[in-house]
Amino acid sequence: MTDENCLFCKIVDRVIAADIVYETDRVLAFRDIGPQAPTHVLVIPKEHISSLDDVTDEQGALLGDIVLAARDVARAEGIADAGFRAVINTGGDGGQTVPHLHLHVLGGRGMRWPPG
Ligand code: 5GP
Ligand code: ZN
Repeated sequence: MTDENCLFCKIVDRVIAADIVYETDRVLAFRDIGPQAPTHVLVIPKEHISSLDDVTDEQGALLGDIVLAARDVARAEGIADAGFRAVINTGGDGGQTVPHLHLHVLGGRGMRWPPG
């Protein structure tokens, strides 16, 4: 179920355009509009879930779906062998700005740790 007021749900529903790189019946992945690395893809569940903190136990399998999708995206983008980062920003201190659960897949350059 999508939310008509949600930006990423509008991408799922093709109301807003995005550069989609991967899609299944449950998951969508598209390029970030403001890339922070040569490869920067967002992997989302098609179902609207606001954040990791809002995932119910019943929705837990979706987390496996988006992580496995991130693996497949990284391989398809050619960044898996060199290494990549997969991260879920959650809530205010987590740096989340779009309230639809998403997994960032970043690669194509060396990552620093800890993040700022
Ligand atoms: P967050 O800060 O919530 O972890 O990540 C949200 C991400 O969504 C940001 O990296 C931002 O660049 C990206 N973003 C925001 N609006 C759009 C959009 O309309 N299209 C796409 N493809 N990415 C977006
Ligand atoms: Zn949504």
